Amino acid sequence: MATTLHMNQEPRKKQIAILGSTGSIGTQALQVIAAHADRFEARILTANNRWELLAEQARTFHPAAVVIANETHYTALRDALADLPIAVYAGADALCQVVESAEVEMVLTAMVGFAGLPPTIAAIKAGKPIALANKETMVVAGELINGLCRQHQVPILPVDSEHSAIFQSIMGEVSSIEKIILTASGGPFRTFTHRLLETVTPAMALKHPNWDMGAKITIDSATMMNKGFEVIEAKWLFGVEADRIQVVVHPQSVVHSAVQFADGAVKAQLGVPDMRVPIQLAFSYPERLHSDFDRLDWYTMHSLTFERPDTERFRCLALAYEALRQGGNMPCIVNAANEIVNRAFLEGRCSFLAMPDIIAQTMQRATFIQQPTYEDYLETDQEARRMAAEGLTAK
Ligand code: NAD
Ligand code: MG
Repeated sequence: MATTLHMNQEPRKKQIAILGSTGSIGTQALQVIAAHADRFEARILTANNRWELLAEQARTFHPAAVVIANETHYTALRDALADLPIAVYAGADALCQVVESAEVEMVLTAMVGFAGLPPTIAAIKAGKPIALANKETMVVAGELINGLCRQHQVPILPVDSEHSAIFQSIMGEVSSIEKIILTASGGPFRTFTHRLLETVTPAMALKHPNWDMGAKITIDSATMMNKGFEVIEAKWLFGVEADRIQVVVHPQSVVHSAVQFADGAVKAQLGVPDMRVPIQLAFSYPERLHSDFDRLDWYTMHSLTFERPDTERFRCLALAYEALRQGGNMPCIVNAANEIVNRAFLEGRCSFLAMPDIIAQTMQRATFIQQPTYEDYLETDQEARRMAAEGLTAK
């Protein structure tokens, strides 16, 4: 029987859990929720360390529960919210439990790194649609995630701007994809020679030309590992093999990616670089909602340029393709090693060009598993982290 909406009854608001609400994606997602308070509600908010910001967000958005993953901040957070009817939890396991709650209707995975894998799996097993920002989940365990999504009939809505663009390019299509054109800004060092790359500092790498993002992904963009991860993410999200995913450097970041079909037609999605657009679409799909974000100005946008990526200067991109070719747990090995060198570079313990060296060494040393289980991924992650850390001290 169809349910009727009475005049005095508000339409139900989509109840969204945000894993990583204090980060770059998380805070932009809250802006989207605030702008469409009639449509969306933040049901769960979580963070790793920034409990003060989490408490402030909770005061504004009134979620049913908050989780602070780092348990040492539990008491501070609980005391800060003592006067509000908000459940406060701590620890990594709590992240998995809160996403399972019956009221949650969508989970935005905006955590960074491998840590996003367990709660994403918990959410899928509980039947919750995923708005996927945490690309590391698909890099590490795309095949496993796809199998679970099929089993539990759970959709994944991409938030990564390129994957949202691909998704938008195939909206309404019934034919298969001939080729994906995955655009890349090229990062802050696009024009640097190999010699110049030897001298780059974390501060230089943290200045991305077009996007304001969290530190980890900004460094990954500078090495182009981010683009390599996005190739792996695209393979699993759209079922397209790596040889039909072409990375094209497009420094203006206006064409967010494109799809070519069997007749040669190419459809792309364009726009001002603003992550709130793909976040909002993931929340509202299949509808598009109004936004006040900037619009493209076709008279001032003088040129859009495209070039071939240089995988010799940006070896991380080649390593990611290689990991995809080898399959099994190799992308998981690359991800773990990358998390270690990324952090080390940020902290001044690893040079820019040593990053791909250590990742390549770890790929050779870590135990290869062709058909990994979930437990294998957990072990691989630990082993590869340990080996990459050894690689750092050997440098
Ligand atoms: P960020 O560092 O700004 O924020 C990360 C969030 O996750 C924070 O709220 C932090 O508290 C939480 N977090 C980090 N480690 C955690 C852990 N171990 N346990 C629990 N919570 C943890 O990162 P970001 O830039 O917002 O990126 C988030 C994810 O989205 C990443 O996977 C990134 O690749 C992806 N992504 C980001 C952008 C962007 O524009 N920022 C674009 C595309 C994809
Ligand atoms: Mg992206």
